[in-house]
Amino acid sequence: MMRTTWRIGKIFGIDINIDSSWLIIFALVIWTLAGSYFPQQYPRWPTWLHWTVGVVTSLLFFGSVLGHELAHSVVAIGQGEEVRSITLFIFGGVARIAEEPDEPLKELLMAIVGPLFSLVIGVAFGVLWFLTRSLSQPLSALARYLAMINVTLALFNLIPGFPLDGGRVLRALIWGLSGNLKLATRLATWAGQGIAFLFMLGGTWQIFGGRWLDGLWIIFIGWFLHSAASSGYRQVLVREMLGEVRAGDLMSADFATVSGDLTLEQLVDEYVLRRREHSFPVADGGLLQGIVCLHDVKTVPREKWAYTRVSEVMTPWAELETVSPGDDGSTILARLNARDVRQLPVVEGGRLIGLLRRSDVLHYLEVRTALGT
Ligand SMILES: [Zn+2]
Repeated sequence: MMRTTWRIGKIFGIDINIDSSWLIIFALVIWTLAGSYFPQQYPRWPTWLHWTVGVVTSLLFFGSVLGHELAHSVVAIGQGEEVRSITLFIFGGVARIAEEPDEPLKELLMAIVGPLFSLVIGVAFGVLWFLTRSLSQPLSALARYLAMINVTLALFNLIPGFPLDGGRVLRALIWGLSGNLKLATRLATWAGQGIAFLFMLGGTWQIFGGRWLDGLWIIFIGWFLHSAASSGYRQVLVREMLGEVRAGDLMSADFATVSGDLTLEQLVDEYVLRRREHSFPVADGGLLQGIVCLHDVKTVPREKWAYTRVSEVMTPWAELETVSPGDDGSTILARLNARDVRQLPVVEGGRLIGLLRRSDVLHYLEVRTALGT
């Protein structure tokens, strides 16, 4: 399926996005509420009221999930982390926090605040239901459903399997006790996978008991938990591997530089065609001045190549992303992704000492993964 996300607004400087999968679940929630849940509970309501309350309840449900993610994000920002965006998916939301927390206590706070928020909102709707139950049936019906769903959301997220909030809490606790993040992640992931298997087992049990729709849902949630646990663990491993390697180890020192005084014609004839490279660092006496690539050359009409110099079309040094030899793997990946470039000049004191290609980083990860180290 094609995945698309739309930006619907900005809160506290965080982009709020919705994934296309969310629209499906949103329509399904409205459909279930207005077409089945409210008509069963309140058969005497007119159809328009079922749909009105159904849509308003769904919107508030949507707001509750967003509030849960905002709670995580606000605590993260308070701890000095950068939160770029929140994306609402089929199963809730994901807040994109730039870095993983560096202390167990920070992670604990950041993780627990989401379910706490859902719990508080759930209790608040419970109180609203209690106060309005003899005053207004539509309002108390809405409050009752939102109380239930928010408490469910809190409990589901508290399941102690990484990368759910409860799993992050578990990881923070083990991490705090043992001082070993890798061990903590592994144990919390095992817990997540174990719980996922229990879900799938329970779902299968339901199917054999004849309740195949409930069973399928439970199996589906189990499958979701299992894949989330596995991919969460892989991400942690990748981040860890990248933390150990330095730009100086990955870069290649075998590269050709060109002079800024070269004409484009010389560049194409003597470098691009012969060396089969698409871009070249421009350097003068070892000092990096910029990068010129085939794309820059194409911006100039063919007949002007003979008298246009490389320095006139190159991307100048000040506009380039560069790394120093001591930068670690995650910094390298962040720089590569920041401008979506294929290679980075490795610079030390203004001198160009190497070139680092995206493929070098990927190759390193591939080899490390294959060796299982
Ligand atoms: Zn959460």
